[in-house]
Amino acid sequence: MHELEITRSLVNVALDEAKKANARKLKSVTVVLGEMSGAVDDSVAFYFELMTKDTIGEGAKINFRKVPMQAQCRNCGSTVNPKDIFWECEKCHSMDIEMTAGKELYIESIEVD
Ligand SMILES: [Zn+2]
Repeated sequence: MHELEITRSLVNVALDEAKKANARKLKSVTVVLGEMSGAVDDSVAFYFELMTKDTIGEGAKINFRKVPMQAQCRNCGSTVNPKDIFWECEKCHSMDIEMTAGKELYIESIEVD
């Protein structure tokens, strides 16, 4: 997928924040990762290790907080658990479904020294 680009921006943000905090070392990064974000945690972790080499982030740990997908019916407001790509509200059978969680992809926190 697009993990290379995704990870590049995550690393940039993390290193920027670490520098702003006058850190000597970036120790860990926690990333919120939605189930439907399109990024695979293992790939992100792999690129993260590569891209932090020779920076203050070298050897930093990357943690993921996974967010499951959640959706809501726009018609009646009930929570929908989409089982496949054909989304339908079980209550009112509307197909007007909005994803309310699961696309998250951002840095929640960093730990520095
Ligand atoms: Zn509904």
